[in-house]
Parts: sequence; C-alpha cells; structure tokens
Amino acid sequence: MRVRETSRPPARRTLVTDFIKIYKGVISVPKFSREFISEVMDKNDIVDIISTYVKLKKTGGSLKGLCPFHNEKTPSFSVSPDKQLFYCFGCGVGGNVLDFVIKRENLDFVEAVTSLAERARMEIPQDNYGSEYSKSAQDAAYEKKQLYYKINSDAGRYFYDVLMSSAGTNAQQYLISRKLDNSTINKFGIGFAKDEWNALLAHLRNKGYKDIDIEAAGLIVKRDNGEYYDRFRGRIMFPIIDVRGNVIGFGGRAMGDGQPKYLNSPETVVFNKSRNLFALNLAKNSKNSQMLIMEGYMDVVAVHQNGIINAVASLGTALTSDQAKMLGRYSKEVVICYDSDNAGQAATERAIEVLREANVKTKILQIEGAKDPDELINIRGVEFFNNLVENAKSALEYKIHRLSAQYKLENVDQKIEFTQRIAEIFAKVENAVEREAYLSKISNDVGISVEAISAEIRRLRFKDERAAEARAETVAARVAESNTGERITQKNKAVVAAEKLLLNLMCEKAIFNLAANKITIKDFSVLLHRQIALYVYDTYKSGKKPDVHEVVSHFEGNPGVIEILLDDKNVEDKEKAAIESINIVLEDTFRRKKEKLLAEGNETELLKLINQKKKGGAE
Ligand SMILES: [Zn+2]
Repeated sequence: MRVRETSRPPARRTLVTDFIKIYKGVISVPKFSREFISEVMDKNDIVDIISTYVKLKKTGGSLKGLCPFHNEKTPSFSVSPDKQLFYCFGCGVGGNVLDFVIKRENLDFVEAVTSLAERARMEIPQDNYGSEYSKSAQDAAYEKKQLYYKINSDAGRYFYDVLMSSAGTNAQQYLISRKLDNSTINKFGIGFAKDEWNALLAHLRNKGYKDIDIEAAGLIVKRDNGEYYDRFRGRIMFPIIDVRGNVIGFGGRAMGDGQPKYLNSPETVVFNKSRNLFALNLAKNSKNSQMLIMEGYMDVVAVHQNGIINAVASLGTALTSDQAKMLGRYSKEVVICYDSDNAGQAATERAIEVLREANVKTKILQIEGAKDPDELINIRGVEFFNNLVENAKSALEYKIHRLSAQYKLENVDQKIEFTQRIAEIFAKVENAVEREAYLSKISNDVGISVEAISAEIRRLRFKDERAAEARAETVAARVAESNTGERITQKNKAVVAAEKLLLNLMCEKAIFNLAANKITIKDFSVLLHRQIALYVYDTYKSGKKPDVHEVVSHFEGNPGVIEILLDDKNVEDKEKAAIESINIVLEDTFRRKKEKLLAEGNETELLKLINQKKKGGAE
C-alpha cells in the first residue's frame, strides 16, 4: 500500500507551476536533537514503514518476509514489532526504522529523519544549532548535496532560458522537427546548452557559485592547465530529476550527428546512475500498474506527450538491479520497450534477467517497422503503440520466439540442441503453472514430447537447487563471520547458536539471574558475544535492565548485535531453553580447556579439570 499523490484532472494547468516545481532548490539544513529523533522513531512504527516495501507474515514474536536488500525465495528478513528492529539472516543487514529508510531509499541521515518526520506530520526544526548533531559530518554531507541540487537546478533553469531565447532558435527547430510541443518541453524542463566553452560556467559564477562546486556537480571539466570549460556544449539538455524532485544531473543529446549522441552527467555525490531512472518522478504518479522502460530520453518524452505517462528510461547504462527493484516498487509489471536493432534486443535479454532476479513480472514489447518507440508513434500513431503494449509477450514467449528463429528444426541435431536450450529457459521459470502452459504449446510447435523436455528441465532444476543451497550456506557463514569477526565452522555452529540465544534471553532479569550463577563472560567462545555479555552483566550490576536500543547504539548498530537481540527466538519455555544453552556453552568451554591442556601435555591440570566437571556436572 503505497501512498501516492492523488491523480489530477488532465486539464491544462498553468505550465509555469510545473516548471517552478522542477527548478526549485532552497538550501536549509534542519538540525535535530536526540529527543526529536526519538520522537520521529516513536511515531513511525517499523512494521508500518517496512510493510510498504515488504510483504510481512507473522511467525512467532516477529514478522518475516522476503529481504528487500538481497534476492531470495524463502524469507529470511525479520522484523520485531516489540523491539522495533529488523534483521536479515540471509545478508546480515539490520537496524532500526531510520537505518531501514536510509538503506532502502538511499537517503542520508538528515534526509531520512526529515522524510519520516514529514510522514508523522511533525514540524521540522530549522535552526536548532545547540544540538549534538549540528556539527556532524552527516550535516556537512547534507549541505553539499543541497548545494549540488541547487547548482543543477540553476543550470537547468539557464538551459531552458537559452532554449527559449534567440540563441536557441536552431534547437527549437530541432525539437519541433521531433514533434515536441512547448508544454512537453516545459513539463520536462528541457533546455539547450550553447555551443560555447564557458557560457554556463560564466552564468553560474555570476550567481556566486565556486568553480570547485560546479565541477563537483558535474557541469564543468578541468583542463590540464587548471582552467575549466562547460561539459555540455551544443546539446539539447534533459534534466534528470529524482523522485523527490531534485535535479540530480543531465542527459545532453547531440543535435544532428554530433558524437556521442547522448552525453550524461558523470557520477556525482547526488547523481547515481544505477539508482535513478529518467522520468520516474513523473511516471510514479501515473497510477498505472505497469511501467514501461525505454532506451532513450526522447522516446520517454515522446510517449509522455501522447498521454503514456508511465514510461521511464535508464540513464545511459544497462538496466541495473537497483533500477529493477525500483521499478518493482512502483509497479506490478514492467514492459521492456527497447529499440528493435540488435543492440536493443541484446539489452532486452539482459534486462529480462535483471528483472527476473529482482522478482519483477516482465513483458516485452516488440517494435516492428520502426527503430524505437518515438519513431513508431510518429509513423503508426499512439493507438497502435497502446495495442502493442496490451499484447506484449511474456519473457518466456519472447525468449522462445528469439531462440526458435536461430534453429532449423527440420535438422535433427539442431532440434536436439534446441530442446536443450528450451529446457534451460524453462528450468529458470519458478511458476509451475506458467511452465506447464507453455510446455505443451512448445511441444506441439517443435514436435518433441512434453516428457522429453520435462525430464531435461527436472535434471537442470535439481542441479540449480543444489548449487543454490551450497551458495546460501557459504553466504550465511560469511555473514556470520563478518558480523562477529570470527570464523564460524560447522563444528561450533551449535555453540554459537546457543550463545546467541542465551544472550537474547539474558535481557530478561529472571534468566540473567539463572545464567549468571553458572556461566561467566569467558565461557562465551565468540569475541562479540563476550563483549555483549560484558555489557549486559555491567548493566545489571549498575542496577539497570538492558534496553535493546541502548545496546544497539552502544555497539554502533553492529548487525551481529541486532541479530542476537531481535525477537525471533520462538521459544516456548525460556528457562528450559536457557538451561539447554548454558549446558551447550559449558560443554564447549570444557572441550576447549581440555584440548588446550592435552596439547600442552599438562596431565595434572587435565585431571583437575575432569574431576571438577564430574563434581559440578550433574546437570
Ligand atoms: Zn537480506
């Protein structure tokens, strides 16, 4: 359930409003007190926030779902409503509600606090300079980002003004030849960069910006002699705007035959090509369950002008997994509308894989008789294009269609190879119903029995599953290692698990009293566990009870700590579970001591140890 802006009537609004919305940009840095931040966290329940991204199901004391930070098929992402924490047992990411928003939305700390505060309708403090956060590095980073947004925004405004002036006559003619009207130009904030070496630079200097900041925003380039020149010259300029309305970069299209055809802003602090999409700021409001992904900015602009406002483009790179996940978040289904040439079709196959891995339902629109959506609409009209969208092929149909064109099926050898390739494609389809449905159709088309193809699919899937299991195990071990700083082997897995459970249970006073009598800090075999134990013991000693959020912040949000504290233990009899864990840990302590003494050949101490265990080891 995403909160979307209410749709507006399609009536023509004053265009200036659109335009000003794009080129806003006011620098003001909010400063937050600790109290303000806890209020923000109190008013934004972690379950509410995460539920807008992840489908959560209740299991025991916590909620589980598919992790939004890595690809998985069985849920290992866990959220505790009681403790207001999340943790992924697959990839080891965890934290509180702010951490989640920071990671998921790619925000910095101040942005995340602001966005959650706005959500809770809290007033944002603007000049609370006395707070402990006021001089943090986070704030400096935030200020820089705001400055670059402002520079980009002013540059966009300038490019637009140039386009509308006499200096932009040729560019205007070009846009008219591409059938773009003024309202579209305005809506997208399209502009023109003069074919001069420092037109923009002079303009921005005049506005008081420093060269070094203009360079950091990606708009100028430094020569060897230290002088700067404009990056974009003689190009139609498309501002790239993030979903929050900030101008983060530009795509500059050459007019005519200039090379390269498209020149984009470089990666900057505010422009991450793999995590943004052109026109998503507009398309996200389309209320359409589909999203169309295209290759060129011009395609997107052209279809928007024709009322198809759910189209976006990637930013001069192949579709990335972050972009695929974003698409999945804003739509139920993605339709790939890439160019009809070979490069476009190769990109389509890659995009299908990226979207499949991100669990996004995908269809493919095949353009025939034109090179791209822009040209197609110009030749055949928008109705024709809409019809193609409606009849877009499933990824499976598309792949089989492409594949069958490569083989001569009347040749037996080719037919066998084709069967194998088909099986490889089918083996990757998770949905059994979809698999079966196409299988019988294909079997008919190529004259190979369903059983023959099925057998090959089963063989491949079994192989894949075993490989996936092995991978998952290695990943889990690596995550555990990086969180605790220690090697987790098969042998000590049970001990490590017992220590974790015990530390979790010990946050309750009764269990702590029970455990503290039997077990010392030294008995914990993992360093991180000893550190947590020490903290817990000390807290009780000082007459307090450990508070989960204090423990987490004491360990600076170490995911290993979050994993332990997260309420995911599903234990019915806590006392019984604690005693079992204590025994496992003590048994391991005994084993370690014994091995050490054996290695040293210290028989006296060894006998002492064994006798000690006999005396105390009744349980
Ligand atoms: Zn994960």
